[in-house]
Amino acid sequence: MTDTMRWDPSECGELRMDSYDVVVIGAGFAGLVAARELALRGHAVVVLEARDRIGGRTWTDERLGRRLEMGGTWVHWLQPHVWSEITRYGLRVEASPVAQTVHWIAGGNAHEGSPAEFNALIAPAMDRLAADSRTWFPLPHEPLHRADLDWIDHLSVADYLSGLDLTPAEREVTTGVWAEHFNGPAAVSGLAQAMRWCAVASGNWQLLHQATSGHRLTEGTAALAGAIAADSDAELRLGSVVTSVAQDTGGGATVTTADGSRFAARQVICTLPLNVLDTIDFQPALPAAKLAANAERTASQGLKTWIRVRGEVPPFTGYAPDDHDLTFVHTECTVDGDTLLVAFGTRAADLAPDDVEGVTRALRAWREDLEVLDVAGHDWMSDAFARETWPMQRPGQLTAYLAALQEPHGAVRFAGSDVATGWAGFIDGAIESGLRVSRAARSALRGAGA
Ligand SMILES: Cc1cc2nc3c(=O)[nH]c(=O)nc-3n(C[C@H](O)[C@H](O)[C@H](O)COP(=O)(O)OP(=O)(O)OC[C@H]3O[C@@H](n4cnc5c(N)ncnc54)[C@H](O)[C@@H]3O)c2cc1C
Repeated sequence: MTDTMRWDPSECGELRMDSYDVVVIGAGFAGLVAARELALRGHAVVVLEARDRIGGRTWTDERLGRRLEMGGTWVHWLQPHVWSEITRYGLRVEASPVAQTVHWIAGGNAHEGSPAEFNALIAPAMDRLAADSRTWFPLPHEPLHRADLDWIDHLSVADYLSGLDLTPAEREVTTGVWAEHFNGPAAVSGLAQAMRWCAVASGNWQLLHQATSGHRLTEGTAALAGAIAADSDAELRLGSVVTSVAQDTGGGATVTTADGSRFAARQVICTLPLNVLDTIDFQPALPAAKLAANAERTASQGLKTWIRVRGEVPPFTGYAPDDHDLTFVHTECTVDGDTLLVAFGTRAADLAPDDVEGVTRALRAWREDLEVLDVAGHDWMSDAFARETWPMQRPGQLTAYLAALQEPHGAVRFAGSDVATGWAGFIDGAIESGLRVSRAARSALRGAGA
C-alpha cells in the first residue's frame, strides 16, 4: 500500500472531501485482501485503520525475548484461502512442538498420560460430534445449506455433551477441549459452530486439532499481512478511527473519522469485529438483525497468554474444565534456555493475560513443578477495536444472524472472519470474506459505470 495517494478531490456540499471508489474500514486480513483485490483492478481505494499498525487481531510483537503472536497464529493447508496467500507470497510455515504428555483435570484431580490415552478419553464425544457435523453440514462452505438447522442451533456444546452417554471424566475433559476452541464457556458455545469447525476439517476432529494448533508462519502473521499490503497500491491511513458512515441519495456514502476527515465513497467495506459494530454511527441505521447480533456479543470472551518458565521443558499439553482460569496450555518454543508456553482461558474478566500471579496460580492446577518467570499477552476483550478474540457463535446465532450479517446495507458491505462462511473465526475466514465482498463491490462499481 502506498502513502502517495491518488487524490481525487471533489466538492460535496460546502466541504472538500477526498473521493474514492471504495473506502475500506479496517486493515485486518479481511480489509487488506479486499483493498488489494479492488486496487489491483484499478479502483481508487483507501483503507482507514484505527490502530497504528495493520493486522488487526493478528499481531506479531517482541515479548519475553522472542517474536510472539499476541493474536491469531496457526494456519494450515486445509484452510484454502490463507494457504493460497502463503503460496502467493512465498512464505513458510513451521510446526509447533508435538506434545509428549498430556495433563488434564477431571474430578478435581490432575492426571497425566500419553496423547493416545487423552485422545481415548475425548474420542467418544468427539467421534459422535464429528459424525453429526457431516450430517448437518454436508457442504461446509455453505453453512446454511440445510433448512432444518434449528434442531441443533438452539443447543450449546454443554447441552449436547450432557445428552451423550459419557463417563463424568469424558464429559468434563471434552468440555475443556471445546472451551479452548471457543475461548468461552461451553454453556454459551453454540453447537452449530462446533459442528461447522469439524465439518470444514472434513468431519475429522483429529484433523481439526492439527489445523487449529499445528503450524505457524515462520516469519509471523505480520509477514503475511505486510506482503498483502505491499502488493496493493490502495492508500493506507493508520490512526484513522471511523466514527460515522452516512449514505446519500446518489448511492454513495461519506465516511468520517474521529479527527473530522471525510471521505466520499461509491462503496464502503466495513470489516469491524461484530462486537464493535455499534461504535460507528451508520446513517441510515443498521438493520435490526445486525444490531441484535452486536448486542448479544459472541461466545468468545477469553484470553491468550504467553508464559516463560525456567529451563527446557519437554513438550506437553494441558486441558482443564471451563471453570478454571486457564483451560489449555501448550509448549511452544524456547528462549535462552527457558521454555515459552502458550495458554488460553475462557474469561478475560477474571484473569488478565499479563497477570503473573494469576497465571502462575492457574498453571499450578496442572503442574506445580514449573517456575514462572514472566507472562505476556494482549487483552483483546478490553481492546476498543476488537472487544472479542476469535469470533464464535452462541446458540441460535447461526440461523438467526449469519445471513443477515452478510447482507449489504445500501452501499456498505460487511466482511471479516465474524461473517465468514467456511473457516469462520480464523484468518482463513477473514480472507475468504474479503475476497467475496471485494467481488460484490466490484460488480456494484461496474454496474454504476466505474
Ligand atoms: C488471541 C487470538 C488467537 C487467535 N488464534 C487464531 C489462530 O491460531 N488461527 C487463526 O486462523 N485465527 C486465530 N484467531 C482469529 C483471527 O486472528 C481473526 O479471526 C482474524 O485475524 C480477523 O480478521 P478480520 O480482518 O476479520 O478482523 P480484524 O483483524 O479484527 O480487523 C478489523 C480491523 O478493524 C479495525 N477497526 C476497528 N474499529 C475501527 C474503527 N472504528 N475505525 C477504523 N478501524 C477500525 C481494527 O483495528 C482491525 O484492524 C485468533 C484471534 C485472537 C484474538
